[in-house]
Amino acid sequence: MSRRIRCRCCGQPGPHKGHGYREACWRRWVAAGRPDTGPPAPVDPADRPFRTRADADTLRTKFADLRTAGHTVAAAAMQLQVSRATAYRYETARKKETAA
Ligand SMILES: [Zn+2]
Repeated sequence: MSRRIRCRCCGQPGPHKGHGYREACWRRWVAAGRPDTGPPAPVDPADRPFRTRADADTLRTKFADLRTAGHTVAAAAMQLQVSRATAYRYETARKKETAA
C-alpha cells in the first residue's frame, strides 16, 4: 500500500504515486513527457471535446461508406479518428443492420 502524501502539484492529500505526486497529477505529468516543470494543469471538463448523438450517427454512416468502399475496419478507424474498439462496435452494428 502506498504512503499518503500531500501532492506537490495540487496540494491535495492522497496515496503517493511517484515523484511527490498523487495519481491524477502523476498521470498528467507522465502523459506530458515528464517535464521538469511538473504536471500540466488538468483539462477543464467544459473544454473537453465530446460527441453528440448526431456526431456518432455521422461517424457510423461514414464508417459504413468506408467499409463498403473496401477499407478494412482498422483503416476506417484511423481515417475517422476513432479507436479500433469503437470501429468494431460500428462493424457489429453494421453487420446486424445488413442481416436484418
Ligand atoms: Zn496533485
